[in-house]
Formats: sequence, C-alpha cells, structure tokens
Amino acid sequence: MSVWNPLIKAVAATSHQNASAQQVVFCDFDGPIVDVSERYYHTYRRGLVELSLVYRQANCAELSITPLSKQDFWHQKQNRVADKELAACSGVPEDWFQRYMKQVEQLVNHPSLLRWDQIQPSAKTALIHLKQTNMRLVLVTLRHPHQVKNILQTKGLGHLVDDIYGASAVNAAHHNRVNQKCELLEHALEQQAKQGHRVLGSWMIGDTEADILAAQTLGLRSAALSCGVRSKNYLEALGPTCLYNELLEAVQFIADNRTWQAA
Ligand SMILES: [Mg+2]
Repeated sequence: MSVWNPLIKAVAATSHQNASAQQVVFCDFDGPIVDVSERYYHTYRRGLVELSLVYRQANCAELSITPLSKQDFWHQKQNRVADKELAACSGVPEDWFQRYMKQVEQLVNHPSLLRWDQIQPSAKTALIHLKQTNMRLVLVTLRHPHQVKNILQTKGLGHLVDDIYGASAVNAAHHNRVNQKCELLEHALEQQAKQGHRVLGSWMIGDTEADILAAQTLGLRSAALSCGVRSKNYLEALGPTCLYNELLEAVQFIADNRTWQAA
C-alpha cells in the first residue's frame, strides 16, 4: 500500500496519462550493477592485518589472526552474520572489535580497495535491454552520485543510466540504513513524477532489505536480486514481489511483461 503524500500521487497520476512519457525503473547500484564482494573481502583482510600491527605495538605480542576464506566470508555476509561475530571467529579479541571496525570504515572507500569493484557479468546487457525497450533507468544508491557517475563513465555505461540519486556521506553504502534509502527513494519518486515520467506502479530493484523495505513503504513493486550482499533465503523472507538471481533476469521480466503497467 502506498504512503505517498497526496501531492506526489496527483503529479504521478498526471504523468501516467501522458502516453509518450517514459516508464521509470528504480535500481540500486551496489549489488545489482556492481559486485562489491572482492572489495569487502580485501577490506576485511587488510583490516585484520592493520589491527595486528597496532596490537603488536600496544602489547609487544603477536595477535593470532585466522582469516576466513573469501567463500566463507561472503556466505556469512550474505546471511547477515554480525561484523562482531565475523571479527571474533577471525581472532579479534572482543575488546579490540571497535578498533577493528574503525580500521574497516577507514579502509572500505579507499581508492586502493575501490579498484576491486567489478561490474556484474550481465549488467551491461541488462542496461542495454532497458534502453532498447524505452524504459527510464534511475539509480537510487547510498553511494555518492559523483562516485557512481565516475564508475559508469569509466566502464562505458554512463549513457545507459538516465538519472542518479545518491547519498552525500562517503560511508553511507557501508552502513546500508533502511530509513536513508527510503527517504532517497521517496525524493527520487517525487522528482521523477514532477519531471513528467511515469512512476505509478513502478519497480525498485535491489539486493538488500533497504531496497525491498523502501519499495514496500512507498508502494512500489520490488525485485530482489541474490547476486549481491544478501542470500536468497534472507531476501525471500522479506516478501519481495519477485526474486531473481541477477539484474538481467529482473529486467527481462519487467521490460517484456508490461501487463503490470496497467495495474
Ligand atoms: Mg545494494
């Protein structure tokens, strides 16, 4: 059920009557378009190394660190195992956890780690398909919009994205707060409706609870993707409209089955 304020709803209804207006599809960036798993894993490993250096200086003793494999680390991340638990099973003493998290937060957006981000294998094909089927792609992300624009341009995808709504804080994506995503999506909806684009009954595609809950709060359809930082089981429990493995599958359904548009 939609909780849009009446003004947004009225504007959206007007654009809905305009046959030439483009239908908007809202989409998250990290997860659906970018695979951040290597960056998160390298951040975790480097955080442990840097913490052990500080520990050695402070205690004149070695910290016994046992890092998880990439596969184990990502499996636990996808199932929302808490950072505290991940740190503990890697050898971080409880009273050193806060210092470890500080290291991680300082590192996660460092250029030497951002270079590990990769475009998801079928993302470019998905974006081209949206363009070819005359859908308007609007990114709603907790990354800074300048950072997103730079990545898209570097990877030759800039022309496939119509608009970007992002967060101003550099670490917002790492924190992944639901209420922040919700506010950002509401702002994007309002702006796109005011610009005359079709947003009624639209979709929000994303890989975390922040995306699904924001879509549900604002009365949008939600497509959850399991190629990101949450597992299929976890996403399923949130009750999204649809659940797919990757962006291309979601886009093929949304763009090729327009019956949902009439609703
Ligand atoms: Mg995401």
